[in-house]
Amino acid sequence: MNDQAAHRADVRIDLAAIRHNVGTLSDRARRSGARTMAVLKSDGYGHGASAVASAALRSGAEWLGVASIAEALQLRADGVEAPVLCWLYLREDDIAAAVSAGVDLSVSSSRELNAVVEAVGAVGGPARIHLKIDTGLHRNGALPEDWGRLVEEAAKAEADGSVEVFAVWSHLACADEPGHPSIDMQAQRFRLAHQQAVDAGLRPLRHLANSAALLTRPDLHFDMVRPGIALYGLDPVPQAGAHDLRPAMTFRSTVVLTKRIQAGEAVSYGHVWVAPAETNLALVPVGYADGVPRSLSGRMSVWLRGKRRPVVGKVCMDQLVVCCDDDEVEEGDEVVLFGPGDDGEPTVAEWAREVGTIHYEIVTGMYRPRVSRTLVAEEAA
Ligand SMILES: *Cc1c(COP(=O)(O)O)cnc(C)c1O
Repeated sequence: MNDQAAHRADVRIDLAAIRHNVGTLSDRARRSGARTMAVLKSDGYGHGASAVASAALRSGAEWLGVASIAEALQLRADGVEAPVLCWLYLREDDIAAAVSAGVDLSVSSSRELNAVVEAVGAVGGPARIHLKIDTGLHRNGALPEDWGRLVEEAAKAEADGSVEVFAVWSHLACADEPGHPSIDMQAQRFRLAHQQAVDAGLRPLRHLANSAALLTRPDLHFDMVRPGIALYGLDPVPQAGAHDLRPAMTFRSTVVLTKRIQAGEAVSYGHVWVAPAETNLALVPVGYADGVPRSLSGRMSVWLRGKRRPVVGKVCMDQLVVCCDDDEVEEGDEVVLFGPGDDGEPTVAEWAREVGTIHYEIVTGMYRPRVSRTLVAEEAA
């Protein structure tokens, strides 16, 4: 915790940790001959997409992946020139703007292919596309029964010079459950779909693996891997051994008020917690509007003055109360709500377990108007 400025609510992003994680992950990919696409959707899983992009591109990633065209164009506006793949857009979105900005587009249907070809007609091309096959997740991607037609049409559009089919790709449903039978089933359908594209005269690369498959299935790295969560130091497959990842996000606040209450006095809405003895309390100005789930009321602790201390009573919209027993705490003391865990502070993984969700939802949920973000580039001392 090297920078001492007081924060109401701040997420500190350790870019050195992200560089370390990208280095580790892209090394693994390179060993199977695959490049790395850093997935930055939802503002870099709440870490700041452009800052993560430059850290990732300096550490072994060559590609970037986002969900929406707006996210892709924001990277371009921030000066990011690396290849960017965008995979989810509406009919109404500005596909022409994406094509002119040199953004690669995923194509899941003839309708999407036509929309891209039309945009190329308006702004010039070719547009680079990645044809998506639905191998069993059943979100986007073309179903196998529609694939033959899609690759034929794409081959025609490529021959016309309106598109370049760069890759065939798909996404796994259960990669975070190593050994799940759907993984091999999806991989089999994926190989078949790629072969059909080759038979149609295309020469696409292949990409399939998310973080979990990158870490556990080197045989599925193909030509490129697409890690998201692991870039941020959160392990999607902790059951599969240690993966040398460093969590990059620390959520912290500052004590704004202290007081001592008598035994028998209660704290916060509903008076659900009653002090068993005379007790020092610290008030911390963050609440459920700042990303602290209210469901953690009575089940969370914070790191304050060198130890974990329980949050008592209900978590409110803007504040929570920490029980400090007889220990001295002062206004201005730093409070760590979660961090990498190196000093003993709570972690994102612990929050996710307590809330009954996945760490993805906790970190992406930290992108909030009242929560500032501090980027730290240097290696911690
Ligand atoms: C989010 C996403 C990824 C990254 O998944 P992680 O589990 O975070 O590694 C990869 N590919 C697609 C299509 C995605 O939507």
